[in-house]
Amino acid sequence: MSLKIKFWGVRGSIACATPNHMKYGGNTSCIEVQAGDHRFVLDAGTGTRSLGDSLMKDGACVSHMLFTHTHWDHINGFPFFVPAYIPNNSFTIMAGHLMDQGGIQDVLSTQMHNPVFPVPIETMQADMVYQDFEGGENFQLFDDVRVVTAPLNHPNGATGYRIEHAGKSAVYITDTEHVEGKSDENVLRLIDGADFVIYDSTYTEEEFPSKSAGGIRPGMKVCVCVRKPAQSNSVSFTTSPIMKTILWMRLARKPRMPGTAISLSTKA
Ligand SMILES: [Zn+2]
Repeated sequence: MSLKIKFWGVRGSIACATPNHMKYGGNTSCIEVQAGDHRFVLDAGTGTRSLGDSLMKDGACVSHMLFTHTHWDHINGFPFFVPAYIPNNSFTIMAGHLMDQGGIQDVLSTQMHNPVFPVPIETMQADMVYQDFEGGENFQLFDDVRVVTAPLNHPNGATGYRIEHAGKSAVYITDTEHVEGKSDENVLRLIDGADFVIYDSTYTEEEFPSKSAGGIRPGMKVCVCVRKPAQSNSVSFTTSPIMKTILWMRLARKPRMPGTAISLSTKA
């Protein structure tokens, strides 16, 4: 049994396709977490298309899709996720920030409506279950998988996730802004003792003052914060289009190429 993490998209804001972005790829947020026999997809940015192609080679597909939020760089790969169009596949789609904003199904459907996109969500033939919850709720989704969530500080709301399996845990936090001089207890609770933390690094400290309206924390200070002794790994994530992956390379202990997996061995 293991907790296996695979990065399919690590960019924020918009997909990039210049030579400067090729080392770690130009796709926006999408991470696959395999927890024992269970698969989780974290966000559905443009990296989701490649994930879908990979899953199609494996045959029938069942997974949970957990959305941090629904700004477009986190959802615009969803219409290109081919397994969702295939009968007998099954997906549970969850979001923690839309209880009073129409719900996740409505938001995903809206981005696939005329005249924005020609193929409506109704053409997806997989068994699709849409589940909204309040950020901060926790879920025992399977006997051996628990998902802990926390509300994040971001325009229109966002949710951080912690996936626990067989004594190991991986945390995914992106698009959150800290209040200067004040700890974010929601974030600290989520990362406490985690084995692997994926954290936003869109801006440097120098850039942050002019970008704070985007609701995103600079990565350098955050990675200092998460590198408590309890954490064995942290990965800087969602570099902005202009950053050419500088933070990723400086902060990740073991920089990975897109599509490669990081495996946390667990006790069966
Ligand atoms: Zn956002």
